[in-house]
Amino acid sequence: MSKAIQAIRGMNDCLPTETGIWQMVEATLRRVASNYGFGEIRMPIVEPTALFKRSIGEVTDIVEKEMYTFDDRNGDSLTLRPEGTASCVRAGIQHGLLYNQEQRLWYMGPMFRHERPQKGRYRQFHQFGLEAFGIATPDIDAEIIMLSARLWRELGINEFVTLELNSLGSNEERAAYRDALVEFLTAKADLLDEDSKRRMHTNPLRVLDSKNPDVQAALADAPKLADYFAEESRAHFASVCQRLDAAGIKYVINDRLVRGLDYYNRTVFEWVTSSLGAQGTVCAGGRYDGLVAQLGGKATPGIGFALGIERLVLMLTSLHKAEQIRAQVDAYVIMLGSDVEIIANNLAEQWRDLVPDIRLQCHCGGGNMKKQMKRADKSGAKIALILGEDEIAQQTVTVKYLRGQQEQESLPLAQVPSLLSNLG
Ligand code: ATP
Ligand code: MG
Repeated sequence: MSKAIQAIRGMNDCLPTETGIWQMVEATLRRVASNYGFGEIRMPIVEPTALFKRSIGEVTDIVEKEMYTFDDRNGDSLTLRPEGTASCVRAGIQHGLLYNQEQRLWYMGPMFRHERPQKGRYRQFHQFGLEAFGIATPDIDAEIIMLSARLWRELGINEFVTLELNSLGSNEERAAYRDALVEFLTAKADLLDEDSKRRMHTNPLRVLDSKNPDVQAALADAPKLADYFAEESRAHFASVCQRLDAAGIKYVINDRLVRGLDYYNRTVFEWVTSSLGAQGTVCAGGRYDGLVAQLGGKATPGIGFALGIERLVLMLTSLHKAEQIRAQVDAYVIMLGSDVEIIANNLAEQWRDLVPDIRLQCHCGGGNMKKQMKRADKSGAKIALILGEDEIAQQTVTVKYLRGQQEQESLPLAQVPSLLSNLG
């Protein structure tokens, strides 16, 4: 026997026991996005490498070491998308969706990063993201954070996530701050780790984001970005906070939150949880007013976020919210006797016509009552509908309740559709 081929490390199959929870999460994301007037956009999974280098930034973790980049057969450098914002902006510019108009878009799909696989961190993972273009005012910053807060409520995880918020100011303010920060870091260089020393020259703000506690301690009296803000940035951030206060959304201002991608300015935020170990960020985003112009479009403000679907599924599973939706069948049709099979299958067809959402599985392969009941139980169905010669003769069905104490009963066939509609 030859050796079986395995999936690539960090790229996972999603098995039928898990797809139920994925579908529930995806349906919630779609519904809430449309509750706020966002429409779906679908982009290719492969893009020119230059797109990500120019948008995410050459000296970011993603571009430096995480991208799946390869040469196409004709020699073009292509990359499996590591995130969605760059592609979304590229598509917006290419199709004239952005200039002088408002756009509210969402996307969902696989992303690829060559990271060390571990719980909540994979090489193929799935993001849901949304982007709003053409609105420079703080109302939209607050609205997309409110939208994200609604997602957690709808998914039942709002008690387990907290919002961290910061402002990065404008590019000019950040440039002035950057000089002060580099000066401070140079004086503290002995206390920094290798990563931070390297970043100090390439991308000094990222040092603030270091996960190393020694580095964090060395930063205790680092200059503060907010001290470099002019009135406009200050007012923008104050307005976002005020709107969140009014909406009853709690947040923590984290002045070290800078985000790993270069294109952000002004508002940035992350939703974090302590229930996932080291991979604690569930959702992250912010404003990127310069990105559209940077990618060759006419200057257009933008803001968005992306969330990791695997991390949501892990949270729901660890909170035991996944179990209720594992079953893929609501009702199972048992048919006893070969004369009954054709009639039973015709009845099942009629029930599917009348109750379009029903998940109805018909027994295949014959066998006695015991064997069919076993399959019905294993299917996860809530009820078994038993059809034998007696039932057909009397135009009834025997209903056996598979989960709970309710007694078996005989019902006229005509009542089956309403029984199925109410299984919920
Ligand atoms: P992290 O700090 O965990 O590496 P990140 O800042 O690189 O996250 P973003 O690029 O902001 O992440 O992506 C948004 C979200 O996508 C993250 O908050 C996370 O939920 C999810 N995500 C990012 N990378 C991965 C991955 N390798 N596997 C699974 N989910 C991921
Ligand atoms: Mg990362």
